Amino acid sequence: MKIAGQLNVYDLPRICPLLCRETNPEYQSGGTRAVKVRGVEFGGDRPVVIAGPCAVETHEQTLTVARAVKRAGARMLRGGAYKPRTSPHDFQGTGLEGLLILRIASEETGLPVVTEVMDPRRVEEVAEHADMLQVGSRNMQNYPLLLEVGRAGKPVLLKRGMGASLCEWLGAAEYIASQGNLDIVLCERGIKAFASGEYSRYVLDLNVIPAVRENSFLPVIVDPSHATGVASMVEPASRAAMEFGAQGLIIEVADFSQDRPRCDALQAIDEETLARIVQFADSRRHYAPSVQVA
Ligand code: PEP
Ligand code: MN
Repeated sequence: MKIAGQLNVYDLPRICPLLCRETNPEYQSGGTRAVKVRGVEFGGDRPVVIAGPCAVETHEQTLTVARAVKRAGARMLRGGAYKPRTSPHDFQGTGLEGLLILRIASEETGLPVVTEVMDPRRVEEVAEHADMLQVGSRNMQNYPLLLEVGRAGKPVLLKRGMGASLCEWLGAAEYIASQGNLDIVLCERGIKAFASGEYSRYVLDLNVIPAVRENSFLPVIVDPSHATGVASMVEPASRAAMEFGAQGLIIEVADFSQDRPRCDALQAIDEETLARIVQFADSRRHYAPSVQVA
């Protein structure tokens, strides 16, 4: 019996015909769309590791972390200038100043930058300074934002909503694609489940990685930092994600010789750990996962 509003992967050709393998003959027998961000290619043989602070706090903090990210071998810089925080009384990010700091860090290191945009009215501003626009978990179903981001002319990193099914996630990506922008990279960042918050922040849904790869041709990466919320779990979670066929990682890093980060300090790793993760990811260069979804 079919129930109104209940969706499964067989509905994907109707929900997201622009992004579904089944409705795009050139991708039916496999292959991933190459999404290029200033010379860095997602969906190719080589996994892309993105790293950086949770938030852009100061010039010094961001530049120090960006240099560490570069030394560790990661290929893109992350950092939130506009931060989605649980309380409006918490640090909200440094806004436009943060975007300018990211630009400076990018110019010095040569690393392209991805940063979050939360407000449809700020898409133009963020697109002017960033190389890739991030839509965060909390905004995955903010349809006006998705449409605006789809028109901005920049590649998009679309995080999975923490309570979103695969159909909802790919449906959200379709909003971006509907505006003519298919340069979308998907990012699994942990979901809410009965055990979330007990011993780790969310539950990393590794199973969704092969499911994305079977049903869509978009590249998919994993955020082990927000998925676990525990620094010591970030490295094993990164390895597991690569084994499941992730095409990249986005990781939070801090410089522990400086002040404690103002957001997500418990999940930040150091340069040495990042370097090991990059090495492991690179060793998975031509790895084709054997996990297949029925
Ligand atoms: C982030 O990457 O900065 C972030 C806030 O992540 P998420 O949207 O996945 O919570
Ligand atoms: Mn964070």
